[in-house]
Amino acid sequence: MSIMTAMAVEYLVFFTIILVAGYLLPAGLFHCIFFRTGIEGVDARRIQQRTPTRASVRHEIRHSLVSVALFAVYATITWQAVKAGATAMYFDWSVYPWWTPFAGFLAAIVLHDTYFYWTHRLVHWAPLFPWVHAGHHKSLAPSPWAILSFQPAETVVQFGIFVILVFLIPMHPLTLVAYLLYDGIVNAAGHCGHEFISKKQRRHWFFKYTTVVTHHDLHHSQFNCNFGQYFTVWDRLFGTFRDRPPEADTSAATQHSPLGTETDRH
Ligand SMILES: [Zn+2]
Ligand SMILES: [Zn+2]
Repeated sequence: MSIMTAMAVEYLVFFTIILVAGYLLPAGLFHCIFFRTGIEGVDARRIQQRTPTRASVRHEIRHSLVSVALFAVYATITWQAVKAGATAMYFDWSVYPWWTPFAGFLAAIVLHDTYFYWTHRLVHWAPLFPWVHAGHHKSLAPSPWAILSFQPAETVVQFGIFVILVFLIPMHPLTLVAYLLYDGIVNAAGHCGHEFISKKQRRHWFFKYTTVVTHHDLHHSQFNCNFGQYFTVWDRLFGTFRDRPPEADTSAATQHSPLGTETDRH
């Protein structure tokens, strides 16, 4: 098999893994729960009155598929470094202690949260925003299909954390795929537009420092707060944390039916 054929096969494998574990499974799961099943009480959990429109969801899916295609290119290139033994990735489970996958998973969460907070603040910097991050913010009321809705420049930033993980943290490929799925699920939750942690539960210390749906939803409607991915720690330390939508946000919003045809305020 020529090098080009081998790389084409690798590209297809990465494209499939990222598409399924990083996009279709997590986004499809939250789409089914909050937009399709008609579970009693779901509508009462909506955070904003405005809801995703067909046009905004089409935009999210189109940009997410381009992101998957680009991520697969970056993954194929990174894979060459893995094959050359230049990264921390391992393939033999017996090389490290049994707890290594769990430690790697936790380290990935902490590193990713820090990376995401600071790069997210960076791409909100006015000179960069239109070129890098404005596309993701076209969704004022995001849907789960927005989780990979990035402009091409932002895919480089978003993939950067996976390069860092592969080079710095000893991880089995299956641990990394599990993390990709976990990251997708947390992201899809953050974009589902419905809060499923009750106000009482949110007073618990655990939820005081973890990001709930309301936080990222507020980020989409107000732009200047809640830059964190998993935790609220960086936001609290640097004064960008916000917990409740001001009344003006929902009163100014328009009422749309789920995935309806009305035009959103983009
Ligand atoms: Zn978002
Ligand atoms: Zn943003």
